[in-house]
Amino acid sequence: MENSKDLRKWLDAFGLQHPLVIAGPCSAETEEQVLKIAHQLKDTDTTVLRAGIWKPRTRPGNFEGVGALGLKWLQRAKEETGLMTTTEVANANHVDLALKHDVDILWIGARTTVSPFIVQEIADALKGTDKTVLIKNPVNPDLALWLGAVERFYTADVKNLGVIHRGFSTYEKTSYRNNPEWQIPIDLQNRFPDLPLILDPSHIAGRRDIIFDLCQTALDLNYDGLMVETHYDPDKAWSDAKQQITPSRLDQITVDLRIRKKDTNEMEFKNQLNTLRTQIDVIDNKVVEMMGKRMKIADKIGGLKADNNIAILQVKRWNEVLGRMILEGEGHKLSEEFILKMYKAIHQESINHQQNIANDL
Ligand code: PEP
Ligand code: MN
Repeated sequence: MENSKDLRKWLDAFGLQHPLVIAGPCSAETEEQVLKIAHQLKDTDTTVLRAGIWKPRTRPGNFEGVGALGLKWLQRAKEETGLMTTTEVANANHVDLALKHDVDILWIGARTTVSPFIVQEIADALKGTDKTVLIKNPVNPDLALWLGAVERFYTADVKNLGVIHRGFSTYEKTSYRNNPEWQIPIDLQNRFPDLPLILDPSHIAGRRDIIFDLCQTALDLNYDGLMVETHYDPDKAWSDAKQQITPSRLDQITVDLRIRKKDTNEMEFKNQLNTLRTQIDVIDNKVVEMMGKRMKIADKIGGLKADNNIAILQVKRWNEVLGRMILEGEGHKLSEEFILKMYKAIHQESINHQQNIANDL
């Protein structure tokens, strides 16, 4: 992952005291819309203007983007405001058109990252250029697929690479449009610390009210940038209306965010500590969520036992679970004493749940 240092240098060259901010509408709609948003963003921390030209829609019949025509609007916005530009490319023809219109940064959408054939096609089309490419995570929570896409670009000698975390699909409804699964980008960042990591809070949230909190978590996890969908009249946007914010709200968010500076040793220590603590927080939330899921299953077992008039405590099964988890714990460098204490507590909670179920019947 040597090459990603080039993009790091590229980011540093901005001399930004803040994360790289990429902002703009989900979709380019009209020339006036693109220009108006670009001019409003010019007075914020935004460095790069985003706008989708070709929109991948999950179901047909929705607005599928204005197509190549919109590239001219981006070009004009760049001339008038000095902002850099970025758009999504999903095949070699898109790449060709984007290059002809001088788009500065290309991004690979989540539905493209899942397809090695298309990623390869795009990587081949970019061979020998010095374009910056940002690769969104695949729609499904699969680190290997994300890394695979990164590797295909490196192998095609595309040097300036970064990744965008936009959350992952789940079949179950959650409070997010796309579940953040912070552990996946954290794993990616641990393996390739030089690969710039950008958060797309808009597609994770699917709504406006949690954009700030998502951005703050990302900065605490040492992310390098943010890509935020922005529109002067979000409710009337032709796509993703619920999640877009106004340029002035974005401006306020960048003012309110706690930004991590790296100037003194003490600061560096605090930053590292903060990053590690945020990683722990992510894992702790997961632990409690998993415990909740475990107890829901215990409730079902409680009901089943009560219906069949079977005792709640099954000593043989309990000893088997404990033995298995002690062995599992060894593999993760966890002491037997710790596993025993932890599982005793879990087992007790599980018995309480089953008892409550039996009493309610
Ligand atoms: C977008 O950025 O508007 C978009 C379609 O993103 P994703 O590929 O993350 O769904
Ligand atoms: Mn969108």
